[in-house]
Amino acid sequence: MASSSPDPAQTSSTVAGRFETVRRRIADACRAAGRNPAGAVLTAVTKTQSPEALAAALAAGQRVFGENRVQEAQAHWSALRPAVPDLELRLIGPLQTNKAADAVALFDVIETLDRPKLADALAAAAAGEAGRTVRVLVQVNTGAEPQKAGVLPGDADALVAYARSKGLAVEGLMCIPPADEAAGPHFALLRKIARRNGLETLSMGMSGDYETAIRFGATHVRIGSALFGERNRPQTPSID
Ligand SMILES: *Cc1c(COP(=O)(O)O)cnc(C)c1O
Repeated sequence: MASSSPDPAQTSSTVAGRFETVRRRIADACRAAGRNPAGAVLTAVTKTQSPEALAAALAAGQRVFGENRVQEAQAHWSALRPAVPDLELRLIGPLQTNKAADAVALFDVIETLDRPKLADALAAAAAGEAGRTVRVLVQVNTGAEPQKAGVLPGDADALVAYARSKGLAVEGLMCIPPADEAAGPHFALLRKIARRNGLETLSMGMSGDYETAIRFGATHVRIGSALFGERNRPQTPSID
């Protein structure tokens, strides 16, 4: 059953090579867009990945990671966190209000604020942590897809204002464009909403479209399969 238990040394060199490739493509895309090559942060998405894959990413110098479930992120990172002081964890999946306190305890940035009730829960969780500031992005459902999380574009300004009124540190916006449409117009819309709200951070672009996202001003690209290969199990869109 060699195929189901990958050789750790092989995982490590494969992952290291992919990091090199993706980093080079990010830098090239920045230069092509007249941007500082350091201006787009690579968020490595480790959902469903093995401990070997996480270790390989850390060995490749990666420190910024995205996870889309609170429990899986705890399993992946709680023990590693003390050993990696400059680790940055970003929640990129939907968050239930009853997990807000756990999310605030583990994550540096929550990219998926999409409703006032969640802003309330995050503010309450911050108060419970001696008034810690919670850094968030507002997720915008740029394609207004019924099954997708995110605030509708027309409601984004109001949610940004509400989150600020609650004391949350709103750093920017995040989106996941519809799978069957050109991503460019969605990235442009996200940038426009960010500009009019005075927001700097744009988390947009995944394995299939990160170079396009950089052209449209992405400051963070969230990349999983281009770094780690196909995921180990299919992602059900469960919320947690
Ligand atoms: C899984 C995931 C990604 C990474 O997707 P890839 O196509 O594997 O790069 C990015 N963003 C979110 C929100 C995700 O859930």
